[in-house]
Amino acid sequence: YTVHQPVDDDLDVPFYTSCQEPKVDAPREKAAMVMLVRNKELYPALKTVQSIERHFNQWFHYPIVFLNDEPWSEDFISVMNATVSGEARFEILPKGEWGFPEGMDVESARDSMAAQGRSGVMYGGMETYHHMCRFYSGKFYTLDALKDYKWYWRIEPDVDYYCSLTYDPFAEMAKHGKVYGYTIALSEEPRTCPSLFREMADWKEDHGIETTELWNAMIAPSWVPWPFRSLMSWFSHRDAQGDGWNLCHYWSNFEIASLDFFRGRAYQDMYEHLDKTGRFYSERWGDAAIHALALAMLLPPEKVHHFEDVGYRHDWYYQCPANAPGGQLLESATLGDDRTFDQERPGGIGCRCECDGSRTRNYPSYCH
Ligand code: GDP
Ligand code: MN
Repeated sequence: YTVHQPVDDDLDVPFYTSCQEPKVDAPREKAAMVMLVRNKELYPALKTVQSIERHFNQWFHYPIVFLNDEPWSEDFISVMNATVSGEARFEILPKGEWGFPEGMDVESARDSMAAQGRSGVMYGGMETYHHMCRFYSGKFYTLDALKDYKWYWRIEPDVDYYCSLTYDPFAEMAKHGKVYGYTIALSEEPRTCPSLFREMADWKEDHGIETTELWNAMIAPSWVPWPFRSLMSWFSHRDAQGDGWNLCHYWSNFEIASLDFFRGRAYQDMYEHLDKTGRFYSERWGDAAIHALALAMLLPPEKVHHFEDVGYRHDWYYQCPANAPGGQLLESATLGDDRTFDQERPGGIGCRCECDGSRTRNYPSYCH
């Protein structure tokens, strides 16, 4: 088996590499877990909430904010209220925070989405999916419902958290000066966003933003010599210099991140620039790629944290850390259930992971 090691040990290491006694009396950060969800997803959402309570929130009791573009069903509210160990809030998105942007030609947007659907662009034909990606790219961060928080942990229906998280990730992010934390990185589906990289690179150059190490790491080395390289710049996924994006992105269904960064002027200005193009609809730009490219252009690499000690699954990608020796004994009296853990392995960093720590389906090397 292999245990994934961070590429550069000095820039980013796990906050802890074994189980901790949860600091139940430590002060909490201004933070919340947030889930955008539909009423009909009650049971997949419940599965997620039960999992995160069992593996983390039973010790920390952070609030969970549920967001919906429609009124909540009574069922959803009562089931979740009976499940959370902290506060549950049920928010309805105000008009204007969801749906087509003002002034958009909705008919031609719909034609374009239908064409994307016919040509097999992933989720390209699904109008609500475009709304969701646009929402999580911009308006999410400036919601009134989140204004009292500095940090968010994005959660989604039907995911698994495999390991115990026995420390407060918000507190550790703050303490280590981190802005963004992820679990899974992978390659973006190129047909969803033919002009996204060019658009973001143009914005970056217009604003005189220097390239960062993180940005450079996401530029696939080009074997084409000058001056021919600039001729390539009108191809997809290239900037005006002909440099290409390697399609790295952090999967945004799991994020632990600073709201202040995304609420800040630079990010919001960039989002407005992207939104004005209309291509959240005429293409199917994903919020994950936008977050990753924005982080790469605006932050030094040490601000991004890979939670490689967190066991996580969404769809058919997963990260499964190997268990650290000795950790399973800690807190065993308070678990109160019959979980069976994977074996402990030398060099493991997980805490009571239930998944097979010899395997993972995750590609963080795309991004570093
Ligand atoms: P995927 O993970 O990319 O396959 O996308 P999902 O279908 O899981 O959607 C991402 C998140 O947005 C999930 O939490 C969904 O519940 C939520 N979501 C997607 N579309 C809508 C919508 O139209 N309304 C609401 N309220 N939530 C949505
Ligand atoms: Mn999902």
